[in-house]
Amino acid sequence: MEISVGQTNSSDNLADKLLFHPLDNIEDVEEFYTAINRSSLTKALSEERPYTYWTIELYDKKNGIRGGGGLGVLAADTRRVAEEQSVPFVLVTPFYPSEQHQHYEYRNGESLNYTSHEPVDYSQYGFDFLDTVNIKAGGQICSLDVVEKILGSTRILCITEPGFGELYSGESGGDHRLYQEVALGFGGYQALKLAGLKPAIMQLNEVATFFAALARLDELASNGMDFYEAVVYTRKHTLYTNHTLVQAAEADFSYDQFERYVFPNLKSPAVRKWLSDKFDNGRIRLSTVTIEIAELRSGVSKLHARVANYHDLAGNKVKFKAVTNGIDIPTWTSEAITDFLEEKGIIDKFYLPAADYEEKIDQVTATEIKSLKSKARAELNQVLSHRVDQYGNHPVVEDDALIYDFKRRFVDYKRPWLPFTDPARIAEILEKHNIHYFLAGRVHEGDSVMSGRLKNLLTIVDQNPILKRRVHYLPDYDEELGRALSVGANVSINTPIVGLEACGTSWMKDIINLGILISTHDGGVADASSDSYLNISGSSEHQEVESLYQRMEEAANAWHSDFDLEYIIKTELKAYLPVISGTRMLKDYLDFLF
Ligand SMILES: *Cc1c(COP(=O)(O)O)cnc(C)c1O
Repeated sequence: MEISVGQTNSSDNLADKLLFHPLDNIEDVEEFYTAINRSSLTKALSEERPYTYWTIELYDKKNGIRGGGGLGVLAADTRRVAEEQSVPFVLVTPFYPSEQHQHYEYRNGESLNYTSHEPVDYSQYGFDFLDTVNIKAGGQICSLDVVEKILGSTRILCITEPGFGELYSGESGGDHRLYQEVALGFGGYQALKLAGLKPAIMQLNEVATFFAALARLDELASNGMDFYEAVVYTRKHTLYTNHTLVQAAEADFSYDQFERYVFPNLKSPAVRKWLSDKFDNGRIRLSTVTIEIAELRSGVSKLHARVANYHDLAGNKVKFKAVTNGIDIPTWTSEAITDFLEEKGIIDKFYLPAADYEEKIDQVTATEIKSLKSKARAELNQVLSHRVDQYGNHPVVEDDALIYDFKRRFVDYKRPWLPFTDPARIAEILEKHNIHYFLAGRVHEGDSVMSGRLKNLLTIVDQNPILKRRVHYLPDYDEELGRALSVGANVSINTPIVGLEACGTSWMKDIINLGILISTHDGGVADASSDSYLNISGSSEHQEVESLYQRMEEAANAWHSDFDLEYIIKTELKAYLPVISGTRMLKDYLDFLF
């Protein structure tokens, strides 16, 4: 074939469009690798062979994608940290063409709670269309758009189509979920190749991304590699990050569903046989096969990695390496506080704790803490000026009042009602110490139990004049509220039933913003000892409630006693700064993987 030079036609344009897109600042990464003593990473990771991160949920509205909770926030923060440190990193996720918003009003004893569904267009968020890829699903060929957005050394690579649906739409073991998961895995894997990339590692953020590793196994096995070698190779380069505690809680799929959605996408008969053999009585759980396809496995806090109860097919207990979640510090911290932590030499330019961070933290004074917090309060007020409470009003808080918050998904095990167990008691505490209490958290659509609990809680509030004035429920909890409350609140409350929180990251946002944490000893909080923060103790719920009320009073008093405030804030920061640092998390993953 003759190759014509200097002549463009439509197929050249297509080739050009599909050509590997260079990243922006990849050469800066060496400084970071040196700082973490991993210079060998320059060879292990490159632009064409990046770290790949697979997630069904991303919570990054700035880039057009709204998530549901911690799983998506973690994915967004992991990518941001990689971008800040110039690490070659590709996040593969669906672009959902529609998103949910919660609306809530409480009036005259009635609550009006509904969800609206709003269209989202990727082109309005700076994504470029690359091409389409095809998967087989439900007896049809489905064409998926591949769209990408380059951000420094990272990119967000998405598959999407107009009928893709919303995040977590349909039942968890249903056909539509399986379609979304298969589309992400098989479609996303083709997208990666389309973008000219080969994965150095595949990190699976929970089992909904299993099909990405399966697509890789199938590619290797159908391209001539011996099947067992292909399994070994895939296993060695796949990390399964688990966020769940109990394997049995996961939904399963039927053989028939796999016949319709999964098997038609496999080229290798050996892979098909391997997968068929994993069914038990015609059902399959994705965790079972994810464990088989990923030799590297991690849990999201020390406690979680220890207690997650998973078994492989041979019946052996699965060991999870603990890599505690972190947060991207600049995303979640008031700018004045980030600058302060840098200027004082508490964190370095990589957002890692400086070598002598404990001594540096010891030099912080209550005056500095209070002055930073009052600046940060202005940011919260700014956000409150366009958000509403349960009565449809913009909440206003006097400058000299304290703010407590409880902000997290409204799910049973987090116990948002716990502080309202004794309404007269909490009212007395709020009034005595001039406290406003902010509650934020969405109820999952269709969770009638929790929406009933939210209504009961707001009825208790409505019937008590003090609570009615001081307790504000903010609907449609999102990143903006998550940040504003972390930044502006003085005290935050975290009450998961001990043993049920995998990690949690909201509490990290509270500590880094120099707030006082009141918490049960669970999730990532349990990475440090229980005297590192204001611990809720007790062996019954009754005792925990009593302990919580005492801690609420103690925290209020501390904001009026320089000595106590300094002691509590410094103890928290010293204990948790290394945990909180998202760069530390990325470093831990790199150490584990390479
Ligand atoms: C930080 C954050 C989360 C994480 O919540 P946890 O309950 O601590 O895991 C969830 N949603 C939003 C909007 C957040 O900002």
